[in-house]
Amino acid sequence: MKSEFEGKWEKRWHPLREEWVVYSAHRNSRPWQGAGLIKPKESHPYDPFCYLCPGNARIHGSANPDYKDVFIFENDHPVVSMQAPQVKPAGVDDLYKKEMALGIAKVVCYDPRHNVTLSQMKLNQVEKVFAAFQKEMVAFEKNPAIKSVLIFENKGEAVGVSNPHPHCQIYATDFSFKLVEQQIRIVNEYKRKRLKNIFEEIINKEKKDGVRVIAENENAIAFIPFFARYAYEVMIFSKGNHQTLITLSGVELHDLTAVFHEVVRRMDLNFQMDFPYVMSIMQAPVDGESYSDFRMHLWLQPPYRQPGLIKYLAGPEIGAGNFMADTMPEDMATELLKVNLSNYALER
Ligand SMILES: [Zn+2]
Repeated sequence: MKSEFEGKWEKRWHPLREEWVVYSAHRNSRPWQGAGLIKPKESHPYDPFCYLCPGNARIHGSANPDYKDVFIFENDHPVVSMQAPQVKPAGVDDLYKKEMALGIAKVVCYDPRHNVTLSQMKLNQVEKVFAAFQKEMVAFEKNPAIKSVLIFENKGEAVGVSNPHPHCQIYATDFSFKLVEQQIRIVNEYKRKRLKNIFEEIINKEKKDGVRVIAENENAIAFIPFFARYAYEVMIFSKGNHQTLITLSGVELHDLTAVFHEVVRRMDLNFQMDFPYVMSIMQAPVDGESYSDFRMHLWLQPPYRQPGLIKYLAGPEIGAGNFMADTMPEDMATELLKVNLSNYALER
């Protein structure tokens, strides 16, 4: 018997995390009609109290230069550092293992203007940011102390960011980040069992289904995956075989940036706000080993599930590790696709 809840109430397997995600969109009473004009906020491109604005002094750091586009510096309060304190080895006890917090932590200011976001910046300016990421990666790959690099942006107060100056961070570490390591294990196991690449399979499936694709050009594609845990979670892949940003050609980097830019603009317009997210650039380690089946991708995880409503992690998520979602990925993709990008009034 066909249920009125068909396609709205089910669990889906998350192949890249090997866990179930439970969807119960039948309980969601408020459909969002979305898409209107964003009114530019009253704000100033320079804030004398901002430690990221050009010319300003940083706490315990030097003064910022009078930079004109992308500006990268080592974090004055780094979480990992080549100067981290020595740690005495724990001896034979590898249950409670400890080591130095080695690495390099950097801050990337996207733009000298305090009041723009990546979505508001012109595409050619955003391209400079991605080109800077690529340049950083080339340097980290040559650094024998660095095994893995995480480039990430926490955007918005909803994810705990108090300084609106557009920026992201880079953590280059001597260990592998857990989710990249997990994806590498899963991609290898999938290859062994089915002789296929799981990332390519996911991209092919999303293209075939079509309903969750929200932006695409010749060399890049963005979709809310079938197994999304967050309502507006988006994965953006370069279509080429790339393990990190390093090997992308100029055209491929342009296309990846263009798809990203379209996605974040759609998000802003949909809720008519600077849409917060956590963005991570998932890349294979740069430790000289081969990770030929890994596929570099951008991963956006926005906390909002409805206008004014944040997805709080609670019992099932924190307490047991499985997400409960109250929206369907297909519906959220449809919503983002409806947005009329020509309404984007904030470009500066
Ligand atoms: Zn600033």
